[in-house]
Amino acid sequence: MEKNRLSLDITVEGIVQGVGFRPFVFQLARRRALCGEVANTADGVFIHLEGKSEGVLAFIKELSEKAPPLSHITRIVVSKGTLNGCTAFTIASSRPESRKSALISPDVAVCDACLKELFTPGDRRYRYPFINCTHCGPRYTIIDDIPYDRPNTSMKHFVMCEKCRAEYEDPEDRRFHAQPNACPACGPHVFLHDEKGRRMPSEDPIRDTVSLLKQGAIVAVKGLGGFHLAADAVLDEAVMRLRKQKRREEKPFAVMAKDLEHIVAFAMVRPEERPLLTSMQRPIVLLEKKQPNPLAAAVSPENKYFGVMLPYTPLHHLLLENGFTALVMTSGNLSEEPIAIDNEEAFSRLKEIADYFLIHDRDIYLRSDDSIVRHTAGAVRMLRRSRGFVPRPIFLKIDAPPVLACGAELKSTVCLTKKNQAFLSQHIGDLDNPSTEAFFQQTVSHLERILDIRPGIVVHDLHPDYLSTRWALEARKTEKRMAVQHHHAHIVSCMAENRIQGSVIGLAFDGTGYGPDGTIWGGEILLADERAFQRMAFLEPVPLPGGEAAIREPWRMALSYLTAAFGPAFDFQKIPSLNPMDPKAMGIVVRMMQRGIQSPVTSSLGRLFDGVAAILGVRQRVRFEGQAAMALEMIADENTRETYVCPWTPEIPIRIPTAPIIEGIVRDLMDGMPSHRISGKFHATVIEMFTQVCRTVAEETGIRRAALSGGVFQNAILLKGFVDALTRYGFEVYTHSQVPANDGGIALGQALVAAATVKS
Ligand code: ZN
Ligand code: ZN
Ligand code: FE
Repeated sequence: MEKNRLSLDITVEGIVQGVGFRPFVFQLARRRALCGEVANTADGVFIHLEGKSEGVLAFIKELSEKAPPLSHITRIVVSKGTLNGCTAFTIASSRPESRKSALISPDVAVCDACLKELFTPGDRRYRYPFINCTHCGPRYTIIDDIPYDRPNTSMKHFVMCEKCRAEYEDPEDRRFHAQPNACPACGPHVFLHDEKGRRMPSEDPIRDTVSLLKQGAIVAVKGLGGFHLAADAVLDEAVMRLRKQKRREEKPFAVMAKDLEHIVAFAMVRPEERPLLTSMQRPIVLLEKKQPNPLAAAVSPENKYFGVMLPYTPLHHLLLENGFTALVMTSGNLSEEPIAIDNEEAFSRLKEIADYFLIHDRDIYLRSDDSIVRHTAGAVRMLRRSRGFVPRPIFLKIDAPPVLACGAELKSTVCLTKKNQAFLSQHIGDLDNPSTEAFFQQTVSHLERILDIRPGIVVHDLHPDYLSTRWALEARKTEKRMAVQHHHAHIVSCMAENRIQGSVIGLAFDGTGYGPDGTIWGGEILLADERAFQRMAFLEPVPLPGGEAAIREPWRMALSYLTAAFGPAFDFQKIPSLNPMDPKAMGIVVRMMQRGIQSPVTSSLGRLFDGVAAILGVRQRVRFEGQAAMALEMIADENTRETYVCPWTPEIPIRIPTAPIIEGIVRDLMDGMPSHRISGKFHATVIEMFTQVCRTVAEETGIRRAALSGGVFQNAILLKGFVDALTRYGFEVYTHSQVPANDGGIALGQALVAAATVKS
């Protein structure tokens, strides 16, 4: 055997199966004239390598540097191998048992190589809307079981033609083992149907869809993770009709534009937002609107932002080729129901909304909504983590036992753990209707199956009436169960994604969460670690007159805070925004609070924002949770440095009074100060006040790490303000980036609390 020959055994862990990793290794080895073998194993990929030492070392370097786009390497373990004098490099076929634990890639955007073929006349996949390869296309949404092989996907109904099969079997081909591989001869196709679900004669359904959209039609378009409802975004009439028919009066619609050049016609794209838009996950990115604006006003009313995405399936590219400034692409559902995925289901559920249906015959096994991100306070913030990101794990600092966490109620997600990986599900929705409940159950069993996890512990929120809690208690009787307090889960979720352990000062700010004392929390400073927490400070509780009704009608919160500040005899007519309100209705609400009828108390910061919004006349009623608070943020003058003076007693637990703030706001209002300045001053006050409270808690405890979590941190002014202020006072500040700060991230925190509790 020649000198200078080296042999290494290499184990690569992470997302390395079903993403073209073995052919990549094969080609890398061949280029360096190395011999050996690559195989899928239970841990990932195993490589045996022999050859000249320079070549072997170069191989190791390139292995991580040039890994395929869909792969995600978490660990490479290298050990000395035995030289057995092999003469070629081969791909070993994988053993079924080794493939059970493989990580499945999320669904990602069509790659550049496929796009090029899509638009090359003469290519055998020219204008074929299902073009894909090992580096792109559907994954998670078409898998029914593991291992990730064609018979376990919705591609099982399509038998590959000879040409496709040859690509599939050739390790040198970009489509080697690409499970959804297809072509016009053997794969799925698109069809155009009318509003009754009847197939329409069409030689080119995509071209016909384009002309229908241009005439103002609403078309339900089947995509990757479900149906979209599409309309030409510049046509006022079409967009308004879509709003009315979808029964979504005010929430902004997402839009899709052909490329960055098209986006800049209607929205600002900051340099840090470009890579988000063009990333292979292709999320909806919140971008600031341009004024004046070519898009219909009804796309995103009363909002400074548009939710914008670039096309991510070949079908989207073909639709957008045709001169649209942008298309509205909103999820194919009636307001708040789960998105439709099945053709027949879409025909029946969307018939009142859509004029036409552009469908296809590749089934979607699991729905996955578009993800939503924004760039604020120096980092990417996930508002909804779904398509493109799920089921990619969050890597944990610790090894967790198998846990199922059931999340909260709004923006529901679930979480499963396996060793140092936490799998947060896609966005399920608000768990307050039967169809979402069914989707919740389906997601749990689907994830358990494809991740091969049998949880020993099931965790749920402390709230006894959440549907997720009741499900955990009723459907999961055999497993050990555990309740985790909502805000504790928020803070630990933030700790988990930042991979920190031990004690932190947790700022848990949101709309609603069940406290251990039976009251509703939401403006809390906790001293927390992974196992326990202590309530160090909170907003002075006020009544929530009418319970849920007070969330839908912020004017009730206005009355609550005004009464707390000035007493029940306060003349509400002094507040201009309350003038048009029915005095009788207001009287009833005040009496309800006095007598404690249907008036649970809350320390929620989200509700304080609602109350202030109503006092300022920004919003008296809302269509979705957080709408008033969002509107208050939109009008705020961010340059305001003034604050309201708000004294509190430094005695743990600190009760932070709201009365001085409300008094100050009413005074400014009487003096004629404009709302945008009052809003700015209110934001600045919240930041200043809680920061000072944190300093006191830090002095008491010696803890100088702060973790920020809860839906209120979707407010960019607060997030940025708190990060700046706390950092200025020497805190190490931890915020959410990979996981939503809202209740979509709760399940991760729950899982970690359970894991840490069991471990100790
Ligand atoms: Zn591709
Ligand atoms: Zn084919
Ligand atoms: Fe919450």
